Amino acid sequence: MTTTADAKSTAVHPAVDTVAAMLYILGRYATDLEEMSADAVRLRCDVWARHVLTGSDPPPGSNANQSAGQGASQSSGRQWGGVRDFTAQICLGQQTRTNEMRQALWKMLQSLRTALEQDTSDQHEVDTQLTRLTQAIASNSIESLSKEVQDTVDLVRRAAKERHRYQNAQIGELAERLSALRLELAEARKEMALDPMTRLYNRASFDQHLSKTLELCHRSAQDACLLIADIDRFKVINDTYGHPTGDTVIRLVSGVLVRTFPRKNDFVARYAGDEFAVILAETSLDNGQTLAQRLMEAVRSQTVTTETGAKGRITLSVGVAALRRSDTAASWLARADAALYRAKQGGRDQFSIANDSIR
Ligand code: GH3
Ligand code: MG
Repeated sequence: MTTTADAKSTAVHPAVDTVAAMLYILGRYATDLEEMSADAVRLRCDVWARHVLTGSDPPPGSNANQSAGQGASQSSGRQWGGVRDFTAQICLGQQTRTNEMRQALWKMLQSLRTALEQDTSDQHEVDTQLTRLTQAIASNSIESLSKEVQDTVDLVRRAAKERHRYQNAQIGELAERLSALRLELAEARKEMALDPMTRLYNRASFDQHLSKTLELCHRSAQDACLLIADIDRFKVINDTYGHPTGDTVIRLVSGVLVRTFPRKNDFVARYAGDEFAVILAETSLDNGQTLAQRLMEAVRSQTVTTETGAKGRITLSVGVAALRRSDTAASWLARADAALYRAKQGGRDQFSIANDSIR
């Protein structure tokens, strides 16, 4: 409402015009403040500008009235104190925002330093770049800040790539070590299964394979034969020609066994000192006997040369046990052992068939 002609004067005065223009500009570039959105700032700037130009009402809720006394003039009807307080409020708010942003930048800088220290081998480059960024943050220069931020982004990208390369190299190295370890383990496991002197399977492997074969053959109702072979009068060889010759004989018999039972399924083991065991899956008693005979003949045909150069011959006794449906691993082995005993009792250099092997 108009109170005096002067109060509502719309005469253009360059100073009034400039203040109004400044308020419009302030509104156009308004940013979000803590207590006011950018839109609200813009709106209030427009209302204040209109007030300055026309003497219309100031924005509702503004503290124009309290500040009126401190303002330049109330006689003109313009709330200059309110205008001043409002612009001060906006500038203060923007300063707070800038400070907050700067704080955030400092924090980011610290995190960057920690991250880049771990990821970059060229520490000098990191130090230089981060120092430049620090100076740019402190300088208040948007131009230098945006340049240094861009350079830092490039540095971070390079660091990320370097980290990727480093991690890939490490993973590759680890994979190589693991596969070498796996080979070593497989080798060690194979070694553990073998008798070191003859390279035949050892007793522990034999026990395992016997149970496995028995279970498989019971399940599939397949034939299987177990042969236990023992060198005849081996002690005499040891006593007469010495242990090294005894060892040679054991190796020689091992070689004959490997050649006589070449099937992948044939399992040849050194059972004890001069005693050997052969597990023959899918083998009938007839075939088992034939193979036992062939083994004995092959051993018989060997010539042993002793340490002193003397020549001699050796023989084997063999027990043959066909797997029975009622057999356990222990009973199958005991029957083969008993058959071997009978072969020895019968005069050696012969094979004997275990009881109950003939159906
Ligand atoms: P038999 O005809 O009744 O089998 O008589 P044998 O003399 O062969 O008697 P036995 O099978 O009981 O003897 C086995 C001997 O084998 C006893 C042991 O000193 C010897 N021996 C066991 N392991 C080794 C070895 O690795 N090397 C050598 N040289 N001798 C061994
Ligand atoms: Mg013997």
